[in-house]
Order: sequence, then structure tokens, then C-alpha cells
Amino acid sequence: MGEKEQHYVQQAFDTNWVAPLGPNVTGFEADIAEYLDNGVHATALSSGTAALHMGLILLGVGPGDEVLCQSFTFSASANPIAYLGARPVFIDSEKDTWNISPDLLEEAILAGIRKGNKPKAIIAVHLYGMPYKVKEIQRLSEQYDIPVLEDSAEALGSTYHGVKCGSFGDIAILSFNGNKIITTSGGGALVSKNRSFTEEALFLATQARENEIHYQHEKIGYNYRMSNVLAGIGRGQMSVLEDRVKARRNNHEFYYKELASNPEISFLTESHGYFSNRWLTCIQTSSYEMRENIRLALLEQNIESRPLWKPMHLQPVFKNEISFIDGVSNDLFDRGLCLPSGSNLEMEDLERIAFVIKKCLI
Ligand SMILES: *Cc1c(COP(=O)(O)O)cnc(C)c1O
Repeated sequence: MGEKEQHYVQQAFDTNWVAPLGPNVTGFEADIAEYLDNGVHATALSSGTAALHMGLILLGVGPGDEVLCQSFTFSASANPIAYLGARPVFIDSEKDTWNISPDLLEEAILAGIRKGNKPKAIIAVHLYGMPYKVKEIQRLSEQYDIPVLEDSAEALGSTYHGVKCGSFGDIAILSFNGNKIITTSGGGALVSKNRSFTEEALFLATQARENEIHYQHEKIGYNYRMSNVLAGIGRGQMSVLEDRVKARRNNHEFYYKELASNPEISFLTESHGYFSNRWLTCIQTSSYEMRENIRLALLEQNIESRPLWKPMHLQPVFKNEISFIDGVSNDLFDRGLCLPSGSNLEMEDLERIAFVIKKCLI
């Protein structure tokens, strides 16, 4: 936490706005929209997962529909498809950004069209903060007239050709869960240039209560709004976001400087125009065995590291779903490792971690 969060939380208590609405919620939404720029509006919600669920509803996804979804991601990107009785179609990653492959995406779109079930939406993810191939994905979205739901949960502070991640999709989502670059402990937001989407999200997320004196309901509603107390934390956190991005990028730079020259290890690099918040620093090792050597050596020193996200097409819960896979994310899962990446790591910590890793490489 920074210095301002308690001020806003105290304000919520002092004014008795302890409710899922109030000045902090409105202020936080304005802060998010101002930060992302590019003409977007924001609706603060209880989680990123809730925002994805709302987003799919707003894009008209329902039972029997197919939704194209990046396979290499956290399960929360895909679960809301199942909430709606729709089916995910998982798409593998390309090697430049580790995100959804435009080639496989087009194959999947054409396959859907051929069987008479044109996919309803594309869920693209800026995984670990690295922007996906925005231009290529947008081109396919326009060419085939399929909207993009941009999962920017891990990419607040990242940019693509100078434009902020979270402002590209027909609808985008953010997460303020405890593990993200800034947090409200739990929370999320739905973002769009199209104000009718953010307004409808607000309506649906507050139990779809119609504008009447009595409680009138014409649609199924949800209780997905963000608390005014937590939005206070969010307002304070927005003021330290740029510092957090710097800290995370410094972590990455340190690891890169220490480890990149070793042929056993490679990093995900930023192509021209790509700027990652480096939410997590990830490495790819030469083999599964090397990955495990490093992970276990770190663990022995009480240092936690983790394999990369296990792709959705490999998850038992999604084993019956269609997927378009060419091996990129399987390989990332086998050989990839997330290194300690907290914004509060000290130089001493980083040096200790790099020392342990280097010992595995000799
Ligand atoms: C964290 C995360 C989410 C879900 O956000 P919550 O706020 O935890 O519900 C969705 N997608 C990705 C890629 C995430 O990392």
C-alpha cells in the first residue's frame, strides 16, 4: 500500500458510505478512465472474473455459443464462458508475445463459420503484462465482425504503441485482486469506449433494478458492484501505479542483466512498440529438467517460484472442449518459470535469487 489509501478508506467511514456505491466508487472509475485515456469509460466491479462474466453477457453470449479464448491464461479468462452455457474454443499462443496466435485464431474462426456456428467473441489476454498482437487481432475482429473481450487483468500499466492496454477491446476488463500490480484486495472493472456497455454493466451488476419507486425487474441481475471502502483503496493505489510499474520493470531488468547471457535461459522480450508492465518476470529454460532444478534449488532456499500458467486445453475441467493447438503453450508450460516479482523486492533479495539460479547453470 501507498500513503493515500487510508485517507480514502477513512473518508468512506467518516461519511458512512460503507456500501457498494459512493464517492470513492465514482472517483475510482473516473481515475481509471482518465488513466487509460483513449476515450474509455469504466464500471468498477467486485472482481475481474465478474467483469469477464458481464462482458460476455453484454456481447450477447448465451447457451450453445462458441467463444474463442486464449488457451495460455489463468482459468478466470475462460470460466465465465461456462457460466453462460457457452463453449470455449481454445487457441494456442505465438512465440513473440506468448499470447493468442492470429494464425490459429483465423483457422478457428473459419472452422466455426464452416460448421454454421460463427464464434460470438474473442477473449485475448495480455499475459504477464505483455500486450498481445493488438493490430493483428483487431484486423481479424473487423474482418469477421467478431468482438474482442480484452483481458487486461495482468496488464494495467502496459502499452502498445503508446496506447494503454485495457483500451483496445470492444470491452476490456481489469483486475484489482491481491496478486495484481495494484490491488483493492479484490476487485475489477469493465472498460469500454462504448458508454452503453459500461452503463448496462452498472445496471446488471446492481441487480438489474429498473428505475421505479418499487423494486421492478425485467432482466436477470447480479450483485457484482465494488464496495465504496475497497474503491477507496483503489483510488490510493492508482497514485502509485507508475511506481509499481517501474519497480516491476526494474526486477525484470535485473534478472535480464544477470541471466540473459546464459544459453540455458531465455526471456520474453518487447518487440517494437510493445511496453510490458512486467507484472511477473518469466524465464524459459532449456528443458523441463532444468526448470525443475532451478525451481527446487530456489525452494530449498525458501524462495517461491512457479511454473507458468497451465494452458486451458490441458486442464481436466476443459478436456472435452475444442482447441487449436500447435505446441507453443505446451512448451512454455514445460520449460517456463515465474521468478519472484513483487514490487517490494530489495536489491539484496534479487541478488540472492540470481545467485541461486546461477549455481544451477554451472
Ligand atoms: C487475475 C486474473 C483474472 C481474474 O481477476 P479476478 O479479479 O481475480 O477475478 C482474469 N484473467 C487473468 C489473466 C488474470 O490474471
